[in-house]
Amino acid sequence: MEHAARDAPATQAPSARARRRATAAFAGLIAAAAALRPAAAAAAAAAAAPPAELLALLPGGTLPPAPSTCTESIRRAITWGVATSAAQIEGGAQAGGRTPSIWDAFAARSPSPVAGGATPAVAADHVRRYEQDFDLMQSLGIRAHRFSISWSRLVPGGKRGSPVSAEGAAFYRNLARAMVARGIAPVATLYHWDLPQSLQDAYGGWLDPRVVGDFEHYASAAFAALDGLVEHWLTINEPGVVADQGYNQGTFAPGVAGGRRSLYACGHNLLLAHAAAVARCRAAACGRISLAMNVVYYEPADPSDPLHARAAQNALDRESGWFLDPIFRGDYPAVLKRAAADAGLPAFTDAQRRALKGSADFLAINTYTGYYAYESPGKPDGFRISNGTRGEALAEARRARGAAKGAAAKGAAAADGPAAARDVSLLGSAETAAPGALGNALRYLARAYGGDLPLWVTEFGTGVPGEHARRGRLAALDDRQRIDGLSSYLEGVCAAAASGEARVEAVFAWTFLDNFEWLYGYTLDYGLVDVDFVSGSLARRVKASGYWFSRWFFRASAALGAA
Ligand code: BGC
Repeated sequence: MEHAARDAPATQAPSARARRRATAAFAGLIAAAAALRPAAAAAAAAAAAPPAELLALLPGGTLPPAPSTCTESIRRAITWGVATSAAQIEGGAQAGGRTPSIWDAFAARSPSPVAGGATPAVAADHVRRYEQDFDLMQSLGIRAHRFSISWSRLVPGGKRGSPVSAEGAAFYRNLARAMVARGIAPVATLYHWDLPQSLQDAYGGWLDPRVVGDFEHYASAAFAALDGLVEHWLTINEPGVVADQGYNQGTFAPGVAGGRRSLYACGHNLLLAHAAAVARCRAAACGRISLAMNVVYYEPADPSDPLHARAAQNALDRESGWFLDPIFRGDYPAVLKRAAADAGLPAFTDAQRRALKGSADFLAINTYTGYYAYESPGKPDGFRISNGTRGEALAEARRARGAAKGAAAKGAAAADGPAAARDVSLLGSAETAAPGALGNALRYLARAYGGDLPLWVTEFGTGVPGEHARRGRLAALDDRQRIDGLSSYLEGVCAAAASGEARVEAVFAWTFLDNFEWLYGYTLDYGLVDVDFVSGSLARRVKASGYWFSRWFFRASAALGAA
């Protein structure tokens, strides 16, 4: 298969000298910080041991083992980090001239679409507590942190030509310096769902091509502000979710229920914005860059049935290929072009195709689950998905065929299957996921887009419903359900890496702190660290899963590969 990442990049690559200079400066900072802090590191290491009263709650009085596939040599070959996002942890909504984002405005609607009427205004107060948060990361041995920048904090006016906020730039420089000083490699995401509300008001946000130039301006400001500090970048977090939840279904901010036309128009602008930012990054020698793609893995319910195999491939092409194909192959997948023709899927110009093809230095995915897929009878470009086990999926597939035959006999058309099952995947429902979904997703992507392409898992994690009700009590820290979930994902990741079928470079757990979990507000937790939202003290306490990840993964982590 053609290896798109090896193709000539769309823009002039930075000179080797410029890249070496940037890399050397970065490596120098990390080394200097490490040399200065041996005593602090030793103290922190002692602080990171799980307290006896927490161990006493766990079966056998000890942390569970690592999954058997995650041998020491595999664990040492991969960078293990944590991921967070600005809107979900920062707070400081109005600090330093920051303007509202679409999530600030969406959460403030009446009635509020967010559980309990919660808002991200304070969140985990990371803007004021980041030094302490990075101390905690360091104490757990964390070597890489994927964070995101708030567009409206860095460029409060939002638009191309709007001034860059000196306070915003200084804040993110200090944040990155604080990470680097602790030996934590900062990985910056430019857009994790928090568009400045002013752009939504001015022209409808991601639905209008003007957003591309505005994003390019903001991205350039970020590259300049973090020059020499951040060497790894992600442009957009989960573009499929932005387009589907934000502008098609309208369930997420900005709440535009525009239907399928809006879905594909928004997706198109997200891709063009990504390409424009990557061109700026390369011109500025900003380091390595990619996009964090939401990937739900689909496996044929019956792999020996060609109709099921085609359905699973259709699902992967129509959801993941929608963004990954333009980036790695230069165009939308054929199956999507056919299926979305009636919804006005835009076409790329030759120049846009060239800008997109090869616009990623590694392939990054956020994966929370996988499903079995089977054919949508009579729809060659369609697919249906099951929330159940393989057996249940097979039974559903048989019923669908039977119903289609019956309908055909009566002259009616069969209904198409659902396009996605985001509500279930939001819960990180490992129990309904096809076993090994994350490992299989990595194997598939390596096969589809190039075996020697570095792969990153920029998010995976487990939301534990009901956990938040135990906040403030010791029981909140006993999150063995999360350990089980993380462990089953990681078993697949390590197996895929060990097989040599996928070049796994970095894996980031979602998420470091309990946070503002979008529509769930503060009522669904994914954190390795508990935050006391109940008393309002926002005190942090490491959960069993944080100690478990630290013991087996963070402490074994490889340093994040330099550019
Ligand atoms: C998003 C995160 C979110 C997580 C859990 C991911 O899709 O990137 O922001 O918190 O899912 O719902």
